[in-house]
Amino acid sequence: MIEIKQDRNICIGCGACVVVCPDNWVMDKDKKSKPKKTKLNEVGCNEEAASVCPVQCITIIKK
Ligand code: SF4
Repeated sequence: MIEIKQDRNICIGCGACVVVCPDNWVMDKDKKSKPKKTKLNEVGCNEEAASVCPVQCITIIKK
C-alpha cells in the first residue's frame, strides 16, 4: 500500500506530474495539479511524478 501526499501550497502548476503520470494526476480548476487517488496498491508512475516535480511537493509514503 502506498500513500501519495502533495503540498499544494507550494505546487506551481507546471503540469510535469500530469505529463509523466496521467494515470493518477490531473490539473484542477485552480491550475494546480491533484492526484486522482491518494491510496494505491502500486506506486506505478507516481514515482516519476514525484521525481520530476520541480518544487518536490509530491511525497510517496510506502506502508
Ligand atoms: S510537478 Fe509539482 S509543481 Fe508541477 S504541477 Fe505537479 S505537483 Fe505541481
